[in-house]
Amino acid sequence: MKKHNFSAGPSILAQEVIKKAADAVLNLNDSGLSLIEISHRSADFVSIMEKAQNLVKELLSVPDGYSVLFLQGGASTQFLAVAYNLLKVDGKAAYLDTGAWSAKALKEAKLFGEVEIVASSKDKNHTYIPKGYEIPADASYLHLTSNNTIFGTQIKEFPTTNVPLVCDMSSDIFSRKIDVSKFDLIYAGAQKNMGPAGTVLVIVKDEALGKSGRQIPSMLDYQVHASKDSMFNTPPVFAIYTSMLTLEWVKALGGIDAIEKINEEKAALLYNEIDNNPHFNGVANKEDRSLMNVTFTLADESEKELFDSLAKEAGLSGINGHRSVGGYRASIYNAMPIESVQALVDVMKKLNK
Ligand code: PLP
Repeated sequence: MKKHNFSAGPSILAQEVIKKAADAVLNLNDSGLSLIEISHRSADFVSIMEKAQNLVKELLSVPDGYSVLFLQGGASTQFLAVAYNLLKVDGKAAYLDTGAWSAKALKEAKLFGEVEIVASSKDKNHTYIPKGYEIPADASYLHLTSNNTIFGTQIKEFPTTNVPLVCDMSSDIFSRKIDVSKFDLIYAGAQKNMGPAGTVLVIVKDEALGKSGRQIPSMLDYQVHASKDSMFNTPPVFAIYTSMLTLEWVKALGGIDAIEKINEEKAALLYNEIDNNPHFNGVANKEDRSLMNVTFTLADESEKELFDSLAKEAGLSGINGHRSVGGYRASIYNAMPIESVQALVDVMKKLNK
């Protein structure tokens, strides 16, 4: 039976990408060698790294003056690397608290200096994105989380400010158009929209670096990684190669414009059912709804057993909500086909008969 994987991760990738990645592990480009055996200093791997970096630049129209890095340690390591590199000694950092991942990011920054939370959606269990907050003009940076994977909210419009913007885009990078020039630093764990867990993408404005006045351990120093072209230490070759394949796949689909349109259609299909089917309620504030993680609950909890069994029968997997929200969460990342979203909607309609 066909399975429809609505899991929030680790990674949801196109079938053809997974197949090509598997082939390369056995035999990279008919070289008779495995991708994971060749030297990361070989011409073959150097060209994979360059291709991946260039595709990021091309797809997101990254302006000159930015470095594109493929690092390790996940987005969670960037929570502290960001503060190490950008939070000035004796300075303060501003954070918008929109959920569990923002909270984890600001917890790490507190190890380095003063943190001001400009606004928080905690009062309503992070079901909305705060707006109209003041940004302290003397902050080293304002940190945002563009998509809140757990709660199903997404920042639709990024603030315009003179304070440098830093953004965790782990769960919506490459899903919609972004203006990279608005940000001093963007980071995103590869898993979900780009590749398997194991690498994290960092896009950083070169001139923002080297100004924090801190001594930074080499592995956390973006300047060190930029100067070595993400090869300061052994790079995670499989995760980077698979990310490159996904970026090629996005490009072949028509780039970010095309994928954004498909994502809007998928999300509209599902939210439309949530809004029109009296058996379900949406969790997130309508104007802040995520196009990647759709959170909803049953209007009548006694229908849970029935809904769960209909979902299982239809091959839907991974739709349980995060334990801190409850209900259901359908993650509809780039690689999720609209037919799978339709399969979920068809099951929801069965409750409404
Ligand atoms: N930030 C966001 C928005 C996430 O969704 C996640 C993981 O799901 C993380 C950070 C943590 O990423 P990692 O597991 O790569 O450290």
